[in-house]
Amino acid sequence: MLVADDGSYTMLAADLQSAAIFRLAYLEHVFYNNGMDAISRLKLLSSQMSFEPDGERNPAAVPAATTQNGAAQPVCFTPKERDQAFVHPAQMPNGQQIMLLKTLLSSACERDCFYCPFRAGRDFRRATFKPDEFASLFGKLAQSGAAEGIFLSSGLANGGVITQDKLIDAAEILRKKHGFRGYIHLKIMPGAEKEQVFRAMQLADRISINLESPNTERLSRLAPHKVFMEELLRPLRWAEEIRRSQPAHLGWKGRWPSTVTQFVAGGADESDLELLTTTQWLHKNVRLKRAYFSAFHPIPDTPLENKAAVDPLREHRLYQASFLLRDYGFDLEDLPFANNENLPLQTDPKLAWAQMNLSETPIEINRAEKRDLLRIPGIGPKSADAILYARRQNKLYDLSALKKLGVIVERAAPYVLLNGRRPASQLSLF
Ligand code: SF4
Repeated sequence: MLVADDGSYTMLAADLQSAAIFRLAYLEHVFYNNGMDAISRLKLLSSQMSFEPDGERNPAAVPAATTQNGAAQPVCFTPKERDQAFVHPAQMPNGQQIMLLKTLLSSACERDCFYCPFRAGRDFRRATFKPDEFASLFGKLAQSGAAEGIFLSSGLANGGVITQDKLIDAAEILRKKHGFRGYIHLKIMPGAEKEQVFRAMQLADRISINLESPNTERLSRLAPHKVFMEELLRPLRWAEEIRRSQPAHLGWKGRWPSTVTQFVAGGADESDLELLTTTQWLHKNVRLKRAYFSAFHPIPDTPLENKAAVDPLREHRLYQASFLLRDYGFDLEDLPFANNENLPLQTDPKLAWAQMNLSETPIEINRAEKRDLLRIPGIGPKSADAILYARRQNKLYDLSALKKLGVIVERAAPYVLLNGRRPASQLSLF
């Protein structure tokens, strides 16, 4: 289907069923757009995106009351309107915290993924922006200081290529016409072309392609019209190919953006082992910066509305395990999977590993290599480096010295030796 700016459309698809579904969704969004001004649409779309994780941590999506830099009021938003626009604090890859607007260009979608609130034909309030209209609105928000970055996605209308063009247009107008130099996280649509991935990488600080499930079979249970290898995994491969083959000065601010993905954890009854196997493969083969895990919860009026919600604690354990694989030198076989290939919900996976492996053979802090220090609960990459540096000056004899180096000593104490002695008796000092 070709959709013109005036709202007219031309049927191209042979698949009458999906065309009919899309027609319904499209008419729906035209209808609702007619009744909504731009700010109302922005508020609606940003609230509809609140489920999508972003940033380095996963801050709750809370409305912004003030900006980080204390800037003036926005030129087109009243304080109440700005508060409702779901600009929220998010931590960037460089550690900086910024006010991020997380939103969609359009919540109209022609696909019918089983878990998704935006699926075609669902009775749901939708809204759409044209790229220049959106860029102008966000440009004003950014100019006012109320937003310092954007995470922009969209429902699919008229295929991945045309939808991707609209996202790229919005980012390009923001960069070139409005001079926006802040953070842009741009979503890559299923079915986007390699040239579009390249273009997005020249405009964005981060791109993401949601795999949703760890493999083809699991994806078919969640999103039967998404093609795992060709539509989702291939763009992640392209991004890595571009990073390897093209000079970084072609990227935004002279560097290529990082790539991330998201899984709907538990939505296809997949195991944690399946999710983490794919995550580790992505870390190693396409330099995935990070996998996000969003615990499945049922959405009314979708085919999975009666499926039980997944415990959010599972999300937390998957994050912990993925960080162990990415930053702590753990392998999949180190993780404490149960017989059903899931991680125990009640135990931190690093602690579980230490209980099995270090209880009887604690690690000598004054001699251990970094990879061994990283196995100790309560010691992360920064505190491991601090220990390596500090012990070059003096031996470390007690827990108070470790505490000063950033170690969570209550967690580490049962698994370490300090100059040959277990420090458990020293815990009373704390
Ligand atoms: S997951 Fe994406 S493609 Fe699927 S229905 Fe939702 S918005 Fe559309």
